[in-house]
Amino acid sequence: MKTKNIVLITSTVLLLFSCSQNPFTGKKTLALVPNSQILPMAFAQYDEFLTDNNVETGTSEANMVRSVGQKIAKASERWLNANGYQGYLDDYRWEYNLVRDDQVNAWCMPGGKIVVYTGILPITQDETGLAVVMGHEVAHALANHGQQRMSAGQLQQVGAVATAVGSQAAGVDEQTGALFNTLYGVGSQVGAMLPFSRSHETEADKIGLTIMAIAGYNPDEAAELWQRMKANSGGQGPPEILSTHPSNDTRINNLTQWAASAKAEAGKFGVTSFK
Ligand SMILES: [Zn+2]
Repeated sequence: MKTKNIVLITSTVLLLFSCSQNPFTGKKTLALVPNSQILPMAFAQYDEFLTDNNVETGTSEANMVRSVGQKIAKASERWLNANGYQGYLDDYRWEYNLVRDDQVNAWCMPGGKIVVYTGILPITQDETGLAVVMGHEVAHALANHGQQRMSAGQLQQVGAVATAVGSQAAGVDEQTGALFNTLYGVGSQVGAMLPFSRSHETEADKIGLTIMAIAGYNPDEAAELWQRMKANSGGQGPPEILSTHPSNDTRINNLTQWAASAKAEAGKFGVTSFK
């Protein structure tokens, strides 16, 4: 009985591991659960989140979130196609929602499921500022950072995930749902969030900058956006989106340095003027 269980668990774990090269980072990454299994779970969690939260529709701000999101999605696709990764986003079902909530935050689940909180809009200020944030969040999803985080830290909970994936028809159980939300930064409380690592943040900044530039947004504005974030974070602790490394100053310096190459990359797609 015991041996049988061990064999079962071992084969489940082996089944869930797969190694693939990420087109954005060029790195071989260990994905504990592949997109084909993660995405249906993400879609279910996203729908549940929208049901439980206050989604804005029809306002100019909600429309702006959708229109910037569409441009960011299109830019990601163009970049991938140009670099030989046709089909990489086939399983994506892009969606862009503005949620009425004072949190200074935004996130993107795997599969292109994006939420922007109204609390971040006073800091993003305009379409370009919003494109910085959405480019960054989409980059986390494209680079599969959530899966890698799961590989690194949540091994002991693989059983819970595997069970949920195996019984998708029955929906995602509460515990797995909570784990999933933590992994993808969907948590509603700052304390419950698991931050991305410093290297993942830096990677998302860099990828996001290229995507926003291809979408026609001025990458010089990225450093400006993070300056405003920094100014906003004074006093009562940093907003969630800032709670991780790299430090504000490192991030701002990086983005300033990378802006020129992001513009050059956009130029390859015929994008030479930026708003
Ligand atoms: Zn991030």
